[in-house]
Amino acid sequence: MRIDVISLFPEFVAQCAAFGVVGRAGERGLLTMHGWNPRDYAEGNYRRVDERPFGGGPGMVMLIDPLRAAIAAARAADPAPARLIYLSPQGARLDQAKVRELAGHERLILLCGRYEGVDERLIRAEVDEELSIGDYVLSGGELAAAVVVDAVARLQDGALGDAESAVQDSFEDGLLDCPHYTRPVEHELGSVPQVLMSGNHARIAQWRRQQSLGRTWQRRPDLLNEAALSKADRKLLEA
Ligand code: SAM
Repeated sequence: MRIDVISLFPEFVAQCAAFGVVGRAGERGLLTMHGWNPRDYAEGNYRRVDERPFGGGPGMVMLIDPLRAAIAAARAADPAPARLIYLSPQGARLDQAKVRELAGHERLILLCGRYEGVDERLIRAEVDEELSIGDYVLSGGELAAAVVVDAVARLQDGALGDAESAVQDSFEDGLLDCPHYTRPVEHELGSVPQVLMSGNHARIAQWRRQQSLGRTWQRRPDLLNEAALSKADRKLLEA
């Protein structure tokens, strides 16, 4: 997969992607990242990338032309078609289903805004989709882009040591993940549940499912409306 980042600070996103699972995905050639700085495409001595908003008011707005030229350069760098995503608090909220969908694309271009955002005409002409990482406002799209890169990179085939671990994660089957324990069995903070040491895989799977259901019911009951629940799951929830 190839991800291009259009940003005034493209190194920031690249740096976030240099560690752990995402860094390894890069080393294994599962993900390549390329940064494009609109300032490199701005004209004049000052290489302006922003201007005051029409109609007055505070802040600055990112200019169309440097962004458009950076996007064109990113598109021209590889013949594969790219989906262009503008990270924006006004976009649809990113979730795991969307991450799975994005992870299946051969190419993404992530557009990061700064200041008050990007001239609306550029969004209408170039952007395929606006995505938000939550109902709060960041000072720039770079952290949001890094979130997208991390979430899609770990889903690339071969990125995780054990592909099963992504399947078991929260949201994958519509529920929150079960709790996890490791050595030592006994600790001053408590004991590991006996069932996990029973070696009985069917009982362990059942316990984990119960825990997932219980946690989801307690912490995110909204998820239960959409989750694919079996008859046995429903019985457990009613108990
Ligand atoms: N004036 C804009 C608004 O209220 O919708 C906010 C602009 S924000 C200060 C600057 C940039 O940060 C945005 O253009 C966007 O790229 C990014 N950004 C801020 N919050 C975000 C969020 N929750 N999700 C994704 N991107 C965000």
